[in-house]
Amino acid sequence: MAWAVARSKKVTEVVCAPGNGGIAQIARCMPVNLKDMDSMVGLAEAEQPGLIIVGPELPLSLGIVDALQERGMRVFGPTRAAAMLESSKGFAKQFLQRHNIPTGNFAVCSNIAEIEKAIDFFHAPIVVKADGLAAGKGVIISPSRHSAIEAAQGLFSGSLLGEAAEQVVLEEFLEGDEISFLCLSDGKHAVPLVPAQDHKRIGEGDTGPNTGGMGVYSTDEMLESGMTEWIMHHIVDATIRGMAEEGTPFAGVLYCGLMMTARGPQVLEFNARFGDPETQALLMRLDSDLVEALEACVDGRLSETELRWAPGAAACVVASSAGYPGSYKTGLPITGLAAAAKVPGVQVFHSGSTQLGEQTLTAGGRVLGVTAVGSSLEEALSHAYQALGEIHFEGMYFRRDIGHRLLKKKA
Ligand code: AMP
Repeated sequence: MAWAVARSKKVTEVVCAPGNGGIAQIARCMPVNLKDMDSMVGLAEAEQPGLIIVGPELPLSLGIVDALQERGMRVFGPTRAAAMLESSKGFAKQFLQRHNIPTGNFAVCSNIAEIEKAIDFFHAPIVVKADGLAAGKGVIISPSRHSAIEAAQGLFSGSLLGEAAEQVVLEEFLEGDEISFLCLSDGKHAVPLVPAQDHKRIGEGDTGPNTGGMGVYSTDEMLESGMTEWIMHHIVDATIRGMAEEGTPFAGVLYCGLMMTARGPQVLEFNARFGDPETQALLMRLDSDLVEALEACVDGRLSETELRWAPGAAACVVASSAGYPGSYKTGLPITGLAAAAKVPGVQVFHSGSTQLGEQTLTAGGRVLGVTAVGSSLEEALSHAYQALGEIHFEGMYFRRDIGHRLLKKKA
């Protein structure tokens, strides 16, 4: 996002809080604690930026947009009440049901007695989710009713996530291809971005534990003709209209995690923001000025805005630390970034990195998002993997099969 914002002809300076080693090369980075509303508001008051864009879910769920709006600042992102589409899975499911928007069957439960009562309505495998934000870790797919009850117990007691869940959602297990369908909204109108497909598992062939995302690709071929219009009508517009009717209009990025099932697209989850690593691939395909589009959302004039996209494809391959999503070492020097950036069509986006003098060091589980565009998915992937061949840090891991589902379909 910082990269796309910095490219805008409307922007003279980007300030990023807190930023990272890669962002520091294009923006002024300021330390900030994302849990501390006062320090974030204080920073905004000191900087007086022309536009504030809220990236992550935690400050959105704390109501940073409401706090900044109250002080008269221009801010892109949903209010606390609208961000509940992401911050409470129970709220999101009940909202979808109230507005007849396609989603799997579910039960929202407040204790084990309610789980035990609801469980007989579900067939294994059963999806068990903690209600609140869990950074992608709050979802358990249970092979039996018995293990689903155990998982719910673990979520209620806090033994599974470290924090006790107040509500647990049981869900029908949906099968199909998963698509990330993101839109911009000004609260009344929505405009779709191009579709993307994430790869959540750590291992090749979609095996092993879930991660924050190990790679993503975006091409127009991912959705059959007419599908974008179907999703806009039955899911996105219905959601934007429903939120406005309930008095909590949703302005910001509405990220729909969809399962393309035999009975059509079904909503798995919403995010209230740009997702990672989808954003890296999507924004590399965006030919329009991102800041102009986000300002149209803030000003309620998105219906006049159209987004232009580069044809072809984009792909992002995530390079992670050895051991991720479990424990891993940090502080390891990263080499080859300059050579990687010279590969045609490539941008190396940083996630868990930090800058120490001239050196870039690892500082997180997912370290880099090596992203490339090309005239086809094959070309975009080949550029991304060529760039990865230039980069090195001790224990660097990446999946070599990003895009495998579409490549298999095409073969
Ligand atoms: P969520 O955080 O709700 O998106 O869930 C994380 C991942 O779990 C999703 O990206 C899916 O791969 C999987 N998942 C979540 N809900 C379901 C479901 N009802 N059926 C099948 N898979 C699911």
